[in-house]
Amino acid sequence: MSLARFTTLQVGGPAASLETATTEPELLALAEGLDPDEEWLVLGGGSNVLVSDEGFDGTVVRVATRGIVQLPAPAGSVRLRVQAGHPWDELVAHTVAEGFSGIEALSGIPGSTGAAPIQNIGAYGQEVGASIESLDFYDVEAGRVRRMPVAELGLGYRTSVFKRGLRGVVLSVTFVLAASSSSASSSGLSAPVAYGQLATALGVAVGERMPLQQVRDTVLRLRASKGMVLDPADPDSVSAGSFFTNPIVTERAARALPSSAPRWQVEPDAPDLVIPLDPAALAQEGADAGTGVYSRGPAPAEYHVKLSAAWLIEQAGVRRGFSLPGSTAAISSKHTLAIVNRAGTSGRASDVAELARFVQGRVLAEFGVQLHPEPVYVGF
Ligand SMILES: Cc1cc2nc3c(=O)[nH]c(=O)nc-3n(C[C@H](O)[C@H](O)[C@H](O)COP(=O)(O)OP(=O)(O)OC[C@H]3O[C@@H](n4cnc5c(N)ncnc54)[C@H](O)[C@@H]3O)c2cc1C
Repeated sequence: MSLARFTTLQVGGPAASLETATTEPELLALAEGLDPDEEWLVLGGGSNVLVSDEGFDGTVVRVATRGIVQLPAPAGSVRLRVQAGHPWDELVAHTVAEGFSGIEALSGIPGSTGAAPIQNIGAYGQEVGASIESLDFYDVEAGRVRRMPVAELGLGYRTSVFKRGLRGVVLSVTFVLAASSSSASSSGLSAPVAYGQLATALGVAVGERMPLQQVRDTVLRLRASKGMVLDPADPDSVSAGSFFTNPIVTERAARALPSSAPRWQVEPDAPDLVIPLDPAALAQEGADAGTGVYSRGPAPAEYHVKLSAAWLIEQAGVRRGFSLPGSTAAISSKHTLAIVNRAGTSGRASDVAELARFVQGRVLAEFGVQLHPEPVYVGF
């Protein structure tokens, strides 16, 4: 069966076999059947994968479990255990309606709850990791279920221990959110608004709290204007969201960029591949003398400037709506960071991958910065 219908990019060939779990015991049984030495894939909403046209020569476990259970919690907070397959935005809508704050700025992100910690989803000043207490994980290598506290998840900017190689199945996620103290308010107040664009749209200063429902509605409106909510009527939403992560480079590498390049100081993190264009900087950076390249590895203390991938792509001459000749893929007409399938069921994953390589090549040639795809490539 073609995987295209299970991915938001609507591309991808068949899987050797596909099994769907609709209850936690079913999901656990399928997880227990996975062989650490064979090829398999866990699929949630398919909103962060690029499946090749040839498909996937292994077992796909599709997670379609649902359910939210409220657990005992100290006054002022609420604990929710949520099944991995529960649609993420339904969870957010539920918390907003109940007056629980902490994930309202993550409104409108497609996909499943179990996938949220995989890349530590984030948007508009919130990251999911800040609201996770623990998760239940079937570790395929170890052959057992582990309750992993958030500190063991290795969460960072769009990364986690799962992205770095821990393989298995997230069964459920437990969240701790703030419970609104105001019963008079229909929806309670949000966490402090932490993102300039959202604050501006709400007409408040960064750091202020606003009614939860208003924050959710505003985030959904902002996202829709960028094609970033799934909408059958919006061809720009046939995507995997942002196709590239914002690169994290050394301060010194960032200084070689035009002063107009947006940049943010971030905590030291594993740097992305960078080829400094200035040979003196190259030598100082200790890059490989032969290739002029250094790659992700132990991070010197000063590796901590995040750049805007969208800015780099635009300044490298790739504009919204851009498409290669004959391609079924294009840059979204609303957002430079999204690659969209313009041809529905005739769309090709190879075209998406080719456009991604083209964009990477343009940015590398122009700025010496290697962009990394955010979606997981499957069957390539
Ligand atoms: C229009 C659009 C907008 C988006 N906006 C954002 C955004 O603002 N911020 C953001 O961070 N992301 C965004 N994304 C990306 C995506 O929605 C998230 O990464 C989401 O969490 C993926 O969930 P999913 O269930 O679709 O995962 P899938 O695409 O099904 O899987 C993604 C990865 O997670 C793994 N996985 C999934 N479920 C499990 C599980 N239960 N156990 C173990 N591994 C699992 C898969 O094996 C795969 O490696 C956007 C995507 C789209 C299409």
